[in-house]
Amino acid sequence: MADKIHIKDLEVFCNHGVFPEENKLGQKFLVSAVLFTDTRAAGLSDDLEKSINYGDISHQMHDFLQKNTYRLLERAVEELAAHLLKTTPRLECIQIELKKPWAPIGLPLAYASVEIERSWHTAYLGLGSNMGDTRKYIEDAVHALAQMDDCRVEAVSEWIVTKPYGVADQDDFLNGCLQLRTLLPPRELLGRLHTLEHAAGRTRTRPWGPRTLDLDILLYDDLVMHTPELTIPHADMHHRAFVLQPMAEIAPYTLHPLLKKTMLQLRDALK
Ligand code: ATP
Ligand code: CA
Ligand code: CA
Repeated sequence: MADKIHIKDLEVFCNHGVFPEENKLGQKFLVSAVLFTDTRAAGLSDDLEKSINYGDISHQMHDFLQKNTYRLLERAVEELAAHLLKTTPRLECIQIELKKPWAPIGLPLAYASVEIERSWHTAYLGLGSNMGDTRKYIEDAVHALAQMDDCRVEAVSEWIVTKPYGVADQDDFLNGCLQLRTLLPPRELLGRLHTLEHAAGRTRTRPWGPRTLDLDILLYDDLVMHTPELTIPHADMHHRAFVLQPMAEIAPYTLHPLLKKTMLQLRDALK
């Protein structure tokens, strides 16, 4: 997204700081924001409703920074960015800088500041269950994700019954995929998924063994990463019909960022 709306050095008198005097007396802060949004529709129509109103955003930033008090600039910008991304339609990404020109450090300075960039991401999750009420475990997980204020469930595939993969002596699976918009970085998203698996009573017995609920991150934007706890894209997704069939349904032209093939192509290659 190349279009940007800038708000530069909006003054806010508020109480953030680690010293009790700062929290009591307050001081001047300057907040700047770069809002990434597609301005084309507003550019063609001259209609404010099709863009983001920088007056509204300025007032929101002002009110938010006055209503809440944080010790750290880091925390203030983190909370402010999340608040704006959650509440502002069409806002894809935001850069926020919060400056403290009167930072009480006992030395003269122009300002100290923290600047961050936060955005919505698109992740695809694989869901599976082969114990108990499989449909309920899966649908409860979708519902729980939809309830999270930093996640939006944007598309859900059909649930398909599949034969167990890897370890055959267990019940059939119910599998599917969903498309998620999320503010969470990959590791935090994985942490949320583990919490949901845990809430479904999942115990890890043997690899690929029976489970009430399995939630895997298949894709995350076009990210490629590999750490001991997380590999994205999911390392084995391109071999699995129970992943590629539902992915071809909800994201047929999405590219696997390493194999450079669409979900449709990968699914058809399995046949
Ligand atoms: P598979 O990953 O082959 O589908 P599984 O889902 O049965 O097997 P689990 O026991 O659920 O494996 O997960 C084991 C670990 O895999 C998780 O704790 C997690 O740290 C790690 N992992 C690595 N990459 C991913 C990913 N993309 N999504 C989910 N977990 C992942
Ligand atoms: Ca899995
Ligand atoms: Ca898993």
